[in-house]
Amino acid sequence: MKIISLGAGVQSSTMFLLSCMGKLPRADVAIFADTGSEPAEVYEYLDYLRGLSGTYGIPIETVTQGSLENDILELSADKRIASIPFFIKSGTDSGGMSRRQCTAEYKLRPIKKRVRELLTERNEKKADVSIGISLDETQRMKPSKVNYMENHWPLIDMRWSRLDCLNWYERQGLRTPPRSACVFCPFHNDHEWKRIKDNDPDAWSRTLAVDNAIRKHPRFNHEVYLHREMKPIDEIQFGEDPSQISLFGNECEGYCGI
Ligand code: SF4
Repeated sequence: MKIISLGAGVQSSTMFLLSCMGKLPRADVAIFADTGSEPAEVYEYLDYLRGLSGTYGIPIETVTQGSLENDILELSADKRIASIPFFIKSGTDSGGMSRRQCTAEYKLRPIKKRVRELLTERNEKKADVSIGISLDETQRMKPSKVNYMENHWPLIDMRWSRLDCLNWYERQGLRTPPRSACVFCPFHNDHEWKRIKDNDPDAWSRTLAVDNAIRKHPRFNHEVYLHREMKPIDEIQFGEDPSQISLFGNECEGYCGI
C-alpha cells in the first residue's frame, strides 16, 4: 500500500500532484492530519486538491486528534496537553524551547492509526509512506519508528528543493500552495509572522489569542512565548529579511511546514 502524507503545503502537494499525474508511483490514498489550527488558506487549498483528486482518482482522507488550538485555549491547570515548542523565558531552561510533542500527537498519531486500519482492511503488513521533505531540508529525513510504515522521500530522490517545487507549479499553471503549519507555530520566521499579520487578520487574531492564553496560564511554570524574542507577539517589530531561518528544521519527522 502506498500512502502520501499530505500537509497541503508546497512540498507534500507537489508529491501528491506528481503521483496523480503518473510522474511518481501512484498512491492508494493521501492522508491529511488536521490539527484544526491551520490558516484558512490551507483548508481552501486542500479543497482545491480534493477537486483535482476527483479527476485523478487518488482519494484524500482527513484524520484528526482534535484541535490543538482549542486544546491550548481551553487548557486548565490539571489538563495535560502535548507540548508545543514555546520559547521559555526563565527558570532552568532559560532561553530554550520547550520539548515538542505536538507533531507526534496531533499529526503522526492519527496517521498511524489510519494506516493500521487500512492495512487491516487490505490484509497487508506494511505501507510505503511518502513524506514531502525537499533537498533543502534533508536533516529532517528520519526512518519510521514503527515496523508497519516505511518512510520514503520522493523529492529527495528527484533532487528537488522547495524552490524547484514552486517553479514546477508555475510551469504547470497550477495554483501555488500556502505554507502548511499551525497559525501560531513558534517555528515561523519573522517573514512568515509579518506575512500573517499583514495579510490574514483571522490567523493573526487566533495567534494573539493563543499567545495571551499561554502566558497567563498556571499550567506553565515559566513565562512562555510564541516568538523567539520572548515578548508578546503584538509587541514585536518583525524583520523584513525573508532569508531568516525558520525553525521547521527542528520538526524532525517532516510532518509540519510542508
Ligand atoms: S506546525 Fe508547529 S505547533 Fe503545529 S504541530 Fe507542527 S510543530 Fe506543532
